[in-house]
Amino acid sequence: MTEAIPAILEEIRAEMAARTDRGTPADYIPELAAIDPGQFGLSVVLADGSQHSAGDTAIPFSIQSISKVFALAIALGHHGDRLWARVGREPSGLAFNSILQLEHERGIPRNPFINAGAIVVTDAALAGHAPREYLGELLTFIRAAAGDEDVHINADVARSETETGHRNFALAHFMRAHGNLTNAPELALGAYFHQCAIEMTVDQLARAGRFLMGARPRLISADRVRRINALMLTCGHYDGSGDFAFRVGLPGKSGVGGGILVIAPGRASIAVWSPGLNEQGNSKLGTEAVEMLARRLGWSIFG
Ligand code: GLU
Repeated sequence: MTEAIPAILEEIRAEMAARTDRGTPADYIPELAAIDPGQFGLSVVLADGSQHSAGDTAIPFSIQSISKVFALAIALGHHGDRLWARVGREPSGLAFNSILQLEHERGIPRNPFINAGAIVVTDAALAGHAPREYLGELLTFIRAAAGDEDVHINADVARSETETGHRNFALAHFMRAHGNLTNAPELALGAYFHQCAIEMTVDQLARAGRFLMGARPRLISADRVRRINALMLTCGHYDGSGDFAFRVGLPGKSGVGGGILVIAPGRASIAVWSPGLNEQGNSKLGTEAVEMLARRLGWSIFG
C-alpha cells in the first residue's frame, strides 16, 4: 500500500490546487494576513524513514500552535505528572483563546493546547530559566526531532504577536491572580509568543513529528508519546477536535498559520500546510487533504 503514496500525494496536491474555496488566512497579525492562500504542501515520513512530499514543501510557515506539542514534551520532561495539577486533559468545546471557562474553573485551563493551557505549559517549561534559555532548549529539541539545524524563530511575527496579544495577556494575568503562573505574565508570554513564531517547512515538520509516531531515536518515553497523542486527538483542533477525529481518525495538532501535524501511530508522521482556515481556525484544505490521505491508505487509530 505504501508504494502508492507518491501517486496519492500528487493526486491530492492536484485536487487541492483546483479548489477555489480555500478558507481565509488568519488576519490578527499582518505577517499572517499577507500570506498567499494559494499555497499547499503535504509531506509524509514513514516508519522506515522514507519521506514523500508534494506541493509547496520547502516554504517555511509559522507553526503557531503546533509548537504547543513540543513545549508540552519539554514541560513534561521537567515536571513529569506534577504538570497535571496545573492544567487539565479535557476538550474545551470553546474557542482557542476563550476566557469564559477559565473563570469558571478557577484559573486551571482545560487542556495544554488551548491558549491558556499552553501559556501554563510554557510557564512550567521555563522552570526558572530566562525565556532565551527555554527557547534555545525548544529549538534544540525541534532541530533534533527534525534532524535539521535550519529551524528558526521569525522575530517580526513574535513582535506582532506581542503587540496584538491582549487576550493572551488577559489569560496570563488571570491565571497569575489564581496562583497558576509562576513567572511574570510578560516573561511567560514573551517565551510563548516566540515559540508560536517558529517557522518550518512541511518537510521539516513531518520529520520533527517522528518522535510522536514511536520512531527511534526516542526523544521522550513511549508512555508520554501515547499521552501526547491522546491529547492531540481530543484537544488538538480546539472546538473542531471532535470533527477532525471523526473525519480523519488520527491525532493531530493545528496552528493558525495553516499547518497541521498528524500522527499515524507506528506508521507515519504527516505534515500539511495550507494557510486558509475554516470557521474553527484550522486549515481548511489541510484538513481535507489529510482526510483524503488517511481514507485512501486506511490509516485510522480506530481500525
Ligand atoms: N499565536 C496564536 C495565539 O496565541 C496561536 C493560536 C493558534 O495557532 O491557534 O493567539
